[in-house]
Amino acid sequence: MRDDRTEAGATHDVIVVGSGAGALTGALVAAADGLDTVVLERTPLLGGTSAYSGAACWLPGTQVQERAGLGDSTEAARTYLRALVGDAGADRREAFLRHAPELVARLESDPAVQFVWQAFPDYVAAPGRMDAGRSFVPRALPQEELGDLARLVRPAVDRDRAGRGHPDGPLVQGRALIGRLLLAATRTGNATVRTEHRVTGLITGNGRVTGVEARTPDGTVTVRARHGVLLAAGGFEGDAALRAEYGVPGSAAWSMAPSTATTGDLLRAAVRLGAATDLLDEAWWCPGTQRPDGSAAFTLGLRGGIVVDAAGQRFANESLPYDRMGRALAAARTPAHLVFDSRTGGALPAVTVPPADPAAHLESGVWVKADTLPELAGLIGVPADALTGTVARFNGHAADGTDPDHHRGEDPYDRFFADPRDAPGPNPCLVPLDRPPYYAARVVLSDLGTKGGLRTDARARVLDARGAPIPGLYAAGNTSASFTGRVYPGPGVPIGTAMVFASLAVRDMAL
Ligand code: FAD
Repeated sequence: MRDDRTEAGATHDVIVVGSGAGALTGALVAAADGLDTVVLERTPLLGGTSAYSGAACWLPGTQVQERAGLGDSTEAARTYLRALVGDAGADRREAFLRHAPELVARLESDPAVQFVWQAFPDYVAAPGRMDAGRSFVPRALPQEELGDLARLVRPAVDRDRAGRGHPDGPLVQGRALIGRLLLAATRTGNATVRTEHRVTGLITGNGRVTGVEARTPDGTVTVRARHGVLLAAGGFEGDAALRAEYGVPGSAAWSMAPSTATTGDLLRAAVRLGAATDLLDEAWWCPGTQRPDGSAAFTLGLRGGIVVDAAGQRFANESLPYDRMGRALAAARTPAHLVFDSRTGGALPAVTVPPADPAAHLESGVWVKADTLPELAGLIGVPADALTGTVARFNGHAADGTDPDHHRGEDPYDRFFADPRDAPGPNPCLVPLDRPPYYAARVVLSDLGTKGGLRTDARARVLDARGAPIPGLYAAGNTSASFTGRVYPGPGVPIGTAMVFASLAVRDMAL
């Protein structure tokens, strides 16, 4: 695999735009099938938000769940998806369910791509749910195996934002997934990757998409495709204007995608060609704790604390899966704050990506600390009696072990992150706030990417306003509108669906 500049007028069988997990799956499958494939990536680094991710892949009914002895099945996943999403998009749901086991078997037939099941419950109580989870992750990848290609893989979010490379040791999570797919694609000898190629336009001829136009440091180049162009270039979460136009709540500054990488170039280009769109106000939501530089940290897995709105009231079960908590936050009176006591020694009782440095957060004022709750209320601008009342009521629930207001701790997902050692009462998710000093961390609506985009069919072909495929044009991942609609069914759905539809796209191109 090369990362050289594009020779003017280059022609390949397949063009893949973007280099996240979907894009590289598409590139690997196409290249392994003998198609001359080029990956065009806008930035100097490969992997996009996929590289930042935990790389959980929600691909049900595969040999990975079978190896883990989970008793998962395509049928159970169908039941679950139908319960959550209904039958809108049933053709894409069925294509997804049918292809997932086949794709995983195919990927794992290459020794470079290996997965292992990891416990993480599905997100919604519905028939067909796996309480222990059905998603899996890639095995860690020793950097030596990747050799020079390792420097092309985008580092974890904190290191990337700080302009640092990978730490010593193996690549893990999203970096491992990107690295493994890259390695496997490399070994086919049929794939080329070109960084710093920002695709801004689609070229057509004889009624089909035949190539792309890309801006590079050396000027604009044209790249042509014999079979098709797969757009797998993420969403438009990084573009404030498009977010405003389509009514996506939150902020580009609070999105978790690599800054400036995903600005909807391909959405715009395909719409200019007449492509239809769907779900443009949607995203894969999450709460974000605000960071000193104004960005946000993906926050999940609370094991203490409560989240209060601008009136000092709780408004949701704080242990909800992050997308559902994000939706609650979008409807809440903001600003919101995560209020916690000192039983965690001043650390946030939650997982954050990137991790938080409490001293820096306190110094910048995005976290505040006070000896009493009324004093804390003053610092975050909520009525003192409301905050003290909310905490007193919650502490009562903690003693009883039930949360009649928001049912925290009733779902297996809630309990997944809880630590019984934190809670003196019978419900491990209800940890009283009674150890001063008290803290409040500002909570904002963050996202892991937008999930609306180009309308596609079961073969990942981009559709026009009449529902007809635009010949030669395909989309996957967050460039396309997700068939899961306004629901986030479980860990790994963004990446799992991106991988499947990218694979289906290149398979269709080869027909
Ligand atoms: P991306 O992975 O963002 O890739 C898009 C690529 O396209 C980028 O490299 C970008 O630079 C490039 N690009 C953009 N515009 C152009 C252009 N004009 N020309 C060329 N290239 C372009 N999801 C899961 O399923 N499982 C998880 O475990 C998980 N964990 C997460 C953890 C974190 C911390 C975060 C932030 C997200 C997580 N997500 C997870 C969400 C998931 O990572 C993303 O929603 C998903 O990876 C998006 O994939 P994508 O292929 O659509 O886009």
